[in-house]
Amino acid sequence: MARTRMEDRMEAYVPPASDAASVSQDETAARIRELKASLGSDVLLLAHHYQRDAVVALADVVGDSLRLARAAAEATARHIVFCGVRFMAETADILTDPGQAVYLAEASAGCSMADMASVDALEAAWDELAAAGAGKVLPLAYVNSTAALKAFVGRHGGLTCTSSNAAQALSWLLSQGAKAFFFPDEHLGRVAARELGLPLTETAVWDRGKARGGLDARAMAEARVYLWNGFCVVHQMFEPQDAAAWREKEPGIRVIVHPECRLDVIGEADAYGSTETLSRMVDAAPAGSKWAVGTEINLVARLAERNPDKLVVSLSPCQAICANMYRTRPKSVLRVLEAVAAGTPPPPVRVDPAVAGQARLALERMLACA
Ligand code: SF4
Repeated sequence: MARTRMEDRMEAYVPPASDAASVSQDETAARIRELKASLGSDVLLLAHHYQRDAVVALADVVGDSLRLARAAAEATARHIVFCGVRFMAETADILTDPGQAVYLAEASAGCSMADMASVDALEAAWDELAAAGAGKVLPLAYVNSTAALKAFVGRHGGLTCTSSNAAQALSWLLSQGAKAFFFPDEHLGRVAARELGLPLTETAVWDRGKARGGLDARAMAEARVYLWNGFCVVHQMFEPQDAAAWREKEPGIRVIVHPECRLDVIGEADAYGSTETLSRMVDAAPAGSKWAVGTEINLVARLAERNPDKLVVSLSPCQAICANMYRTRPKSVLRVLEAVAAGTPPPPVRVDPAVAGQARLALERMLACA
C-alpha cells in the first residue's frame, strides 16, 4: 500500500530530546498532567473508548467516533492530541479550523477496516454500476474510512454515519429515491438495513475482489443496498455460540454486542448498539445484573472495573483487542505534549484542503441528521 504524506512527514520528523522512553508510568502520567496544566486551554486530549486505561485516564474527552467528532468540531484548543486511529484524527482535522492542529498520538495507528476500501476501488465500482444501469445510487460511508473516501461520498451527494446513526443515515439516503452503497463495513450496513425493515434479499454484498462486485445483472438491478465486504477484524472474533455458552454458564446474563459483529451474532444477542450505548446499558443496570459484552476488550475491562457490583465479561473467550488502538501509550502522548510545549510540535494530521472540503460535506450531512 502507498505511504501517506503523513507517514512521510513523520519519518522526516526528529522529535526534540526527551526522556519519555525511560520514565515510569506514574511519572509519565504526572508529567502529562503538568504539561496539560501549563498548556491549559491550548491543548485538548481526545481518546477513543478502545484505548488502554492508562491513556483514557488522562483524556479530556473519552467517547466513540461520533462523540469525538463532535468534540473536535466544538473544540477551541489550538493543539488537539488524538488517541485513536488515523481516520479519526483525519476527521478531527476536517472539522477543525486551519489554525488548529490535530496530532495522532501514535502516528502508525491505522485501521484495517478503513484500509479495505480505497477511492480507486470505489470509483471503479461506481463506473460498473453506471454501466450496468443500476439507476441512482448514493454512497454512505461509515466514519471508519479514510478522508479520501469521505470526499468521494461528499462529491457524490452521500453522507457518513457512525455505529450510532447508521440506520438513520440510510433512511435519509433511501428517502432521496436512491439506492445506497454502504462501505466499508458490510455488517453495520446489513444491520442498518434490517433495522429499517428491508428484507435481506434487497441487500447485495459487493465483493471488493471481483469485477462488478461479483454480482450478476439481476442481483445488481434488484438490490436497494449494496454492501462493500469490509469488516472489523476485532468484531469478527465473536461467534453466535459464545452467547449460548455464557447463558449456560451464567443464567440470566444479558448479551449485548456492537453492530460491527456479524448478523448471526447480533441475532443471538439481547441488544446491540454503539460503544456509547453498550456502556450506558451496563452503567445504568441494577447491581447483581450480568453482562456478556461483544466489543473491544479494553472497553469491556473498564466497564467491569467501574461496575464491581455487576458481572461484566467479554462475550468472546478470545482476546478481542484492537492492536492499532493499543499502540498508543501514555508515553506516546507525553512525547507529543513535550514537543508542543517546547514549540517544536510533530507534524499534524493535515488532510488536503480540496479533499477536506468534500469530506466535510459528507460529515456535516451526518452531524445535521444524527
Ligand atoms: S476496532 Fe476495528 S474498526 Fe475500530 S479501529 Fe480497530 S480495526 Fe478499525
